[in-house]
Amino acid sequence: MSQFFRSVQDLFFPPICICCRQCVVIEDASSVELICGRCCDRFFESSARSTGRCKCCGFPIAMIENDADIVFFPCLECRYWKFRFSSTYCLGAYEGRLKKLVLQAKMVSGMPIAFALGQTLGTRLHPLSPDLVIPVPMHWRRRLTRQQSSAEALARGICSRAESRLVVETRAVRASRLTKKQGMLLPRQRRENVRNAFQVTKPEVISGRRVLLVDDVMTTGATLHEITGQLLRHGASNVAVAVVCRAGANS
Ligand SMILES: [Zn+2]
Ligand SMILES: [Zn+2]
Repeated sequence: MSQFFRSVQDLFFPPICICCRQCVVIEDASSVELICGRCCDRFFESSARSTGRCKCCGFPIAMIENDADIVFFPCLECRYWKFRFSSTYCLGAYEGRLKKLVLQAKMVSGMPIAFALGQTLGTRLHPLSPDLVIPVPMHWRRRLTRQQSSAEALARGICSRAESRLVVETRAVRASRLTKKQGMLLPRQRRENVRNAFQVTKPEVISGRRVLLVDDVMTTGATLHEITGQLLRHGASNVAVAVVCRAGANS
C-alpha cells in the first residue's frame, strides 16, 4: 500500500517542498519526503515537551522560569476532561501554515500532504514504541463523499518513519453510527455526540497491545477519548495519541 502512496506522490508532486514551493527536498537534508528541512524547522514545533505542552493532551501549559528550573503548571484541560489516553504527540497549534496544510490534506488531492505530515510525526514518537497504529475511523457514509481519510494517510506516513516496525490497523475499530460534525457543537456536547459511536471489531488485534491512535486535529479530544475507552475496554495495554494539530477547546 505504501508503494501506492509513493506512486501517487511521484505523479502529482515533484520533490518540491509543499510548504515553500521553492526548495527541492533532498533526502539527506530532511526527515520528510515532501517538506524541506527549513520548513520543518519553521512550521513544526520541535517537540511537545520542550515547548511547554501537556504530556497527556498536548495542550499548552503555563510555566515559569525559576532560577535554573522551569516550573510547569498543571494542565487545566486534563483536569476538566480527564482524558483516557496516556500521551499526545503533535506538531503544533491549529493555526497559520500548519492549519493550511491540515485543510489541504483533507482534500481528495491532499493524500500526499497527509502522508508527509504523518512522516514528520513518525520521526517524533520517541520514546513511545507502540505495537500498532489506528487511524480514527470514518463512517462509511462520510467516506462516500470524502473518498479518502486523511487520518489513514497520516497513519501510513507515521509507520514509514517510525523507528520501530509499525503496522497500520484500519479494521479493528469502526464508526458504527453517523455522528454530527463535532465542529458544529459546543465542547460539552461533543462527548455526548460520539458516545458509543465506535465499535472494536477485532478485539484479538487490540488485546495486550500498545496502540497509537491517529487523527489530524484534536480540539476537545472527545472522539479520541471515546475510542480510547473502547480500546482499553478490549484489553489495549496503553493508548497514546498522535495528531498534527492540537487546537484549543473553543477553536
Ligand atoms: Zn520548504
Ligand atoms: Zn492536558
